[in-house]
Amino acid sequence: MQTSLPNWLMQRAFLTPERVAVYDERAQKTFMELHESAAKKARQLASAGVRKGDIVAVFMKNSVAMIELIHALHYLGAVVLLQNTRLTSYELAWQLKDSGAVCVIADDELADRIEENVRVITVSELSALPKAEAEFQQYYHLDDVATIMYTSGTTGKPKGVLQTYGNHWWSAIGSALNLGLHENDCWLAAVPFFHISGLSIMMKSVIYGMSMYVMRAFDAKKANDLIIAGKVTIMSVVSAMLQKMLADLGERRYPETFRCMLLGGGPAPKPLLEACKANGIPVYQTYGMTETSSQIVTLAPEYSLTKLGSAGKPLFPAQLRIEKDGKAARPYEHGEIVVKGPNVTKGYLHRPDATEEAIRDGWFYTGDIGYIDEDGFLYVLDRRSDLIISGGENVYPAEIEAVLLSHEAVEEAGVTGIDDETWGQVPCAFVKLKSGYSVTAEQLKQFCQERLAKYKIPKQIYFVEQLPRNASQKLLRRELKQLIPNN
Ligand code: ATP
Ligand code: MG
Repeated sequence: MQTSLPNWLMQRAFLTPERVAVYDERAQKTFMELHESAAKKARQLASAGVRKGDIVAVFMKNSVAMIELIHALHYLGAVVLLQNTRLTSYELAWQLKDSGAVCVIADDELADRIEENVRVITVSELSALPKAEAEFQQYYHLDDVATIMYTSGTTGKPKGVLQTYGNHWWSAIGSALNLGLHENDCWLAAVPFFHISGLSIMMKSVIYGMSMYVMRAFDAKKANDLIIAGKVTIMSVVSAMLQKMLADLGERRYPETFRCMLLGGGPAPKPLLEACKANGIPVYQTYGMTETSSQIVTLAPEYSLTKLGSAGKPLFPAQLRIEKDGKAARPYEHGEIVVKGPNVTKGYLHRPDATEEAIRDGWFYTGDIGYIDEDGFLYVLDRRSDLIISGGENVYPAEIEAVLLSHEAVEEAGVTGIDDETWGQVPCAFVKLKSGYSVTAEQLKQFCQERLAKYKIPKQIYFVEQLPRNASQKLLRRELKQLIPNN
């Protein structure tokens, strides 16, 4: 028998109707008001022909309207495809075709980016539609797909990840069991809802009955002001956001009310973690991916210095192990990070091959390499596909990039392997300098020599204007080689 839960927003509006669900710069809405807006939108969507089981794409920037729309689509039993607003027309069209979405609901100013032959309804058009009779889903079946999100496409072509109601439910529960839930909690959503880091805040808000503050686009100064004014208690960030917030913060300090800066999405540079510690910012490092419906491993701040650089331990409902040559690795032995838990996807849309490769015996193979120390703390090293093998030694581009980034003149760095007659492969670095700074390749190599074993020193360092990145701003190492002059 399938496990079902009462429709989340309807249940929440019934339990705590008066509590504030969402704030933004202009207004606030209680859970009852949010439910009423979602119900109205669901009837308008029904008049536009949206039916149970349809895949409907949402192409919007963060807003209260976007939250209402996602709930409304779930009221109708539609599956929501969330699309990154930085995607090019070509990438968008590919995802729309691949997913078989019946229509796209788009912010008015984004609508003309959609070139695929699919029905586009702008947010204004939707709000002007009449309301039709609609049957609302009174229950959510935990095995049903709630959302589809394509992976960032850092290591290959993006894959549509199926995220069930159960995945979202358990992700929210696992996080609460770890971070706890305080009566006055308000989570700042400055990461986009089209990423799982953002969408998971929306899910937590309705499941916990917790307020959230919605930011349309991240603004370091505004985020700091909200924290200092005591308006928000938790925030999700990636390291580039945190770096900007630290720079803006200056001598100011966050109040005690601010209890968690959840940092994920990619490796966290050690100097950043140390600066946060010095500033009393309670950073929780976390590791997760689209396929795990957000965090699956998290480090509590009490370990942030003793376990510096670790992503922590698995959330309560999840399990973690490192696999090396088909066997469980010993502590400190490097291998593939393999995870299991009710927050982990059941597979990829229309990709049985990729699903079979990734999920074996109920365990999900992340494609990331890491190790676990003797206390069970995870350290993420790098992506398996980016590993450089030089003279039989494993070289992790992320480690070299972190050293280069700690140089005062370096703004961005990317490392990849290039063929070498003697060693098979050697690391090669691509560096973007900060404006107004200058440094030679020799000086950078010298800097690396003081910090890295000889086989990890980049054999070549190229200075470039820009590094290749995808719509999630992640570095595309597989495209770095194209930057080599005359290659
Ligand atoms: P694709 O799967 O298409 O290549 P992607 O893996 O970049 O894209 P996401 O799901 O957005 O897509 O990103 C998850 C990945 O981000 C993880 O698999 C891991 O490589 C990286 N990551 C997340 N958290 C951390 C962390 N704390 N430390 C290091 N890497 C991390
Ligand atoms: Mg991935």
